[in-house]
Amino acid sequence: MPVINTYGYNYIEGAAEMLRLFYGYANQVSENRAEANSDTIIINSRVIELNDAQADKIIVETDCTGLNSVRTEVKREKFRREIKRQLYCQLELLTDIHFPWGSLTGVRPTQIIFESFVLCEYDNSKTIDYLTDYWRLSPAKAELGLITAIAEQGIMSKLDKNDLFVYAGVPFCPGRCSYCSFISRDAFRQADWLEPYADTVVLEAKLVFEQIKRPVSALYLGGGTPTSLPDGAFARLLEGLVRYVPLKQGAEWTVEAGRPDTISKTKLDLIRQAGANRICINPQTMNDETLRRIRRNHTAAQTVEAYEMAREAGFSHINMDLIAGLPGESPEQLLRSLNELLMLGPESITIHTLALKRSSHLQEQSQEAVRLLHLPQAELSAAIAEAGSRLRENDFYPYYLYRQKEVAGGLENTGFARPGQACVYNVAMMSDRFDVIGLGSGAISKRVDGTRVRRSPNSKDLLNYQQRIEELARRKIDLFNL
Ligand code: SF4
Repeated sequence: MPVINTYGYNYIEGAAEMLRLFYGYANQVSENRAEANSDTIIINSRVIELNDAQADKIIVETDCTGLNSVRTEVKREKFRREIKRQLYCQLELLTDIHFPWGSLTGVRPTQIIFESFVLCEYDNSKTIDYLTDYWRLSPAKAELGLITAIAEQGIMSKLDKNDLFVYAGVPFCPGRCSYCSFISRDAFRQADWLEPYADTVVLEAKLVFEQIKRPVSALYLGGGTPTSLPDGAFARLLEGLVRYVPLKQGAEWTVEAGRPDTISKTKLDLIRQAGANRICINPQTMNDETLRRIRRNHTAAQTVEAYEMAREAGFSHINMDLIAGLPGESPEQLLRSLNELLMLGPESITIHTLALKRSSHLQEQSQEAVRLLHLPQAELSAAIAEAGSRLRENDFYPYYLYRQKEVAGGLENTGFARPGQACVYNVAMMSDRFDVIGLGSGAISKRVDGTRVRRSPNSKDLLNYQQRIEELARRKIDLFNL
């Protein structure tokens, strides 16, 4: 088990992150030493300054007991990435563990993948070789990442850098799914909060957009489960958003209905009347036994019923989500669920991989189970790859992709859509290249200025959010009027 010593730089977090990836934990002993267990293997990671003439470049070098050392000259601003890459390569050799995304441990691997595509002069096969050799991606992920990165760039190239996106969040759900890490409240137990909450979000929209006069390219009402609001509050929220958010002609407008058990004809009619043109109905699995196990209080039949109601209500874009790696569920069950969705025929399908965070019920069960969950899982990886192939055979293409930290098998979440049906909001929000205004408790606003992103979060505490609404709105206005 190794010790990592760092020299010439101050970024021990990167070393600790790599140790955690392979060993599940890391002790940050000091500002330049991290270890996982004992000190039988020493890894030295250092940054060496070049002479002044090449001040924009530095050398990153790593040596490890019993292995060849690695040495690369990189641009100064890329040195952290290179340190982690080199440590990954050494730890991969030491442990013989190969993560599907290799040394790309960040949330948005497609950014580095597209940079690699440019470096390889837009040659697909050269890029895939480079991604597998240098960044250590598996060939399957290199290919998926590249296709998705190209699709993302295609979507972003049609946007203007001044385009504005709006997210409104409703942090209530009809009960808590066992894997959920989101701060959602029980809509039944906290029924008294629902009406004032909806009115506060509308007030926030009013305060903000009376001052920020910018047309909005896409609006996304997400959660939690917005449809867990009572009909009256839900109607007021939708009407208020449409009244105050200055949507552009033809803007994308999504409502995440989410849990099928909250979807009714009345709710669907309200969403249609508000002009939303995209709706999400999220089964997560079409297996009733799993749904019971993960404490999702609905059945696969209710998903089908909600889907048919949404079509009857006139929705021409329905998105559906599945989660791979749910507890007790086999890869075959994931593929069976996917087949059932394909038979229904939504316009887009997102395949998530189970991620656990500290606050979920599952994470409380066993630290060791969680550690094992992060290691590569060949069966799960194969099932997700097969799901991707089936989607592509059925005319869906991957258009956005992101990764979460505590994710099963080190895998990813990928949005697939039929041609022309990609969700622009998803791509823009994930890219960190566009301004986003977040409304609602816990929502985060982002102001993008070149490569600099400034954020203004709303309070996650419901009472605090409501009591400070004028101040929170003012902070946002100030952020966007800078
Ligand atoms: S519906 Fe979604 S947000 Fe709500 S508890 Fe379940 S996973 Fe969490």
